Amino acid sequence: MSLRQRPRPEPDRDSAPWWEAVRRHELTVQRCEGCGTLRFPARAVCNRCRSRASAWVPALGTARVYSWIVNHQVFMRSMADEVPFPVLLVRLDDGLGGGGTTASRTT
Ligand SMILES: [Zn+2]
Repeated sequence: MSLRQRPRPEPDRDSAPWWEAVRRHELTVQRCEGCGTLRFPARAVCNRCRSRASAWVPALGTARVYSWIVNHQVFMRSMADEVPFPVLLVRLDDGLGGGGTTASRTT
């Protein structure tokens, strides 16, 4: 199965700008305009100051890998041809963390 056939996340009101940046191959983070806190995933209201004002800013583009595994299980039939693939837990040097997978299969 090609990458084009993979199930895709559905952007919502808060995450749509992030997905648009991903399509341009840009890594951005949401920054609160009230207090400057970076937040990921995107949300409408800042957890720190309750401001609804935010902007999208470029991420530093560097991160550390904290952990990883190689997934050998077929959890979704549509991704059966992708197995095995690596799954990473990373922390951006911007101070945000998250998980993800690479676009390529391991051999
Ligand atoms: Zn804030």
